[in-house]
Amino acid sequence: MDSDSRNALVIGSGISGISSALELAKAGVSVYLVEKEAVVGGHSARFCCKATDICVRCSACVVPDKIKEALLHPRIRLLTNSTVKRLSGEAGSFRVEITQQPGYVDAERCIACGLCAEVCPADPVAIYAPPAEATPFCYVLDEGRCLRFNGQQCSLCRETCPTEAIDLERKAKGQELNVGAVIVATGFDVFDAREKGSLGYGRYPNVLTGLDVEHILSREGQLRLRSNGEEPRRVAFVQCVGSRDKHHGYCSHVCCKYAMKLGGLIKHRSPDTEVTIFYIDLQTAGKGFAQFYEEYKGSIRFVRGVPVEILQTASGELEVKFEDISQTRVCRDIFDLVVLSVGISPSRNSWDLARTLGINMADDGFYATADPFGSNETTVKGIFLAGTCQGPRDIPDAVAHGMAAASSALEMLECAASPCDS
Ligand SMILES: Cc1cc2nc3c(=O)[nH]c(=O)nc-3n(C[C@H](O)[C@H](O)[C@H](O)COP(=O)(O)OP(=O)(O)OC[C@H]3O[C@@H](n4cnc5c(N)ncnc54)[C@H](O)[C@@H]3O)c2cc1C
Repeated sequence: MDSDSRNALVIGSGISGISSALELAKAGVSVYLVEKEAVVGGHSARFCCKATDICVRCSACVVPDKIKEALLHPRIRLLTNSTVKRLSGEAGSFRVEITQQPGYVDAERCIACGLCAEVCPADPVAIYAPPAEATPFCYVLDEGRCLRFNGQQCSLCRETCPTEAIDLERKAKGQELNVGAVIVATGFDVFDAREKGSLGYGRYPNVLTGLDVEHILSREGQLRLRSNGEEPRRVAFVQCVGSRDKHHGYCSHVCCKYAMKLGGLIKHRSPDTEVTIFYIDLQTAGKGFAQFYEEYKGSIRFVRGVPVEILQTASGELEVKFEDISQTRVCRDIFDLVVLSVGISPSRNSWDLARTLGINMADDGFYATADPFGSNETTVKGIFLAGTCQGPRDIPDAVAHGMAAASSALEMLECAASPCDS
């Protein structure tokens, strides 16, 4: 890599980090893209396309193309299974220590034949395929389940692998990087619906989250009841689960859109299925979205109400007890499937990284910006924010924010190379 002022570090390879990395690389900067997981792309790499006869602009298709472009870019070096341990120096000249956990399976050699999983004696098996859409597509070894990492003699997977992709002796390794700018793009955590115990997630098989539905439709193409494999005939979406409550005083911006688009997709595939959306107030901001709502009003039932409890009846149906705001009374309704529209929560590991980098957190748990009117600059010069680690946003906004972070970083790098006035 080149001198510090032509190098940058991007932490997190979700769509915002990928967008920042591409923007920097296209401007001639060499980028280290550090990802803590074995695969890249973050949450949105596993979303389904929600098109009916027409594209509904859910933006899920933007993600795989950008990932491919980033991975093929000669100026982007991807470090998976990696985290930042320490940072010193200043804008234009940072020194960063990275720890890379051993992946055990070499992504370049793995041909995903599955022989390792077939011979694995652990129960459940300790080596398995990642989700179909994962990049890189390479088998993953779970140390917690692996007999060898639990004190037993076993190396069947390594002995069976036809391409010698498995190395069970690999150790974590550290490396030091010199970079001029850092972009933090560590994303968000999906709200854990178990925290709303009265809504039954984790207790009733037919209560799912919006994220579950994204994954099921992306992987299996069709929504079926977990209890009996049948197609649901009455589906309810419950909005604002983990948003706009006393612990999360903000709107997640994405839930009304994804719920309506998923509801529209379910209706398109199974027109006889009844879809109901329970909402507090619909957030239809965004180009074309109000019109989209007008179109779906005819086929989706919208109820302005807050479900307070979900109970499973003896026959396995779900009874939703809700306060109907427009009629100011408590009502009950029966569904086969309830989808909790979970929101965007600050990532649990934000505090650790904030301490490592010396940046501040905001009161809502997302990273703080230096300027209340800006959203990319942190309280440390040379460290920038991209995407949902700064606050809730959808894919197009995360892309735009990632690109904006890259332009701020570029400006700073240019100043560092030939000092300017600001
Ligand atoms: C249920 C649900 C459905 C949604 N559906 C849509 C939709 O249909 N359309 C739409 O436009 N938006 C949708 N969104 C919003 C969308 O998920 C986000 O806009 C997008 O994922 C933001 O990308 P990001 O890169 O900011 O964060 P993330 O996707 O969270 O990516 C962050 C990345 O950083 C990595 N990381 C985290 N910490 C570290 C660390 N310390 N070191 C290294 N790497 C780290 C993570 O592993 C991850 O790869 C939905 C959101 C939810 C919750």
